[in-house]
Amino acid sequence: MLSQQDQNHIAFRCPECTGAVLGWLGQYARLAGLLRLRCPDCSQALTLRPISDGRVSLEVPCLFCRRPHTYTVSADLLFSKDFFTLACPATGFPVLFAGKKTAVEHALEKTAEESAALLKQLPQGQEHPEYPEPDAYSVICYLLSELEAEGRVHCGCGKNTAIAEPCPGGIRVRCPECGYERTLAVMRASSAESLLSLSELSLLPPQTP
Ligand SMILES: [Zn+2]
Ligand SMILES: [Zn+2]
Ligand SMILES: [Zn+2]
Repeated sequence: MLSQQDQNHIAFRCPECTGAVLGWLGQYARLAGLLRLRCPDCSQALTLRPISDGRVSLEVPCLFCRRPHTYTVSADLLFSKDFFTLACPATGFPVLFAGKKTAVEHALEKTAEESAALLKQLPQGQEHPEYPEPDAYSVICYLLSELEAEGRVHCGCGKNTAIAEPCPGGIRVRCPECGYERTLAVMRASSAESLLSLSELSLLPPQTP
């Protein structure tokens, strides 16, 4: 039996109080379905909901955008990977931290100052660049699950796992292991659907500025 310490944890920063909220994912979440991780001081909560194909849908509060972002990741990644983050599509800054407790705590600590500084810089009440339709994102997540199942996602490490994140102007697909990525310029469900015939997806080394 794994101890609680060994099992994966998940964390986000609360948009109201800016405090870090850390919770134990545990095995029960996998069985019980919906998991809601609430800030003890505010009403803000992260929700995790298993969907089909061994995937999990996450709704993560974002302190930069002050509205939640939705992501879909594989349950294996969420429950087993030592550490990974999901970025806010508008700022590129991590808003969800997951993995072993010590790794998550370390990352929260490391990003605390930077995130407070970024929060101060952000213009208040500004319009965000255009994001893809939620349905377009769902279609790309479905496409990824199909490609992963058949081992047709190619990256630098050959792990064949990928995370999709909505970003301004499209959907970024990224390997959480090696960081290879690719942005699909897809805004509408109809254009996402036209990608369903893709037989493979090759990710590219991240551009170093
Ligand atoms: Zn709070
Ligand atoms: Zn955001
Ligand atoms: Zn890779």
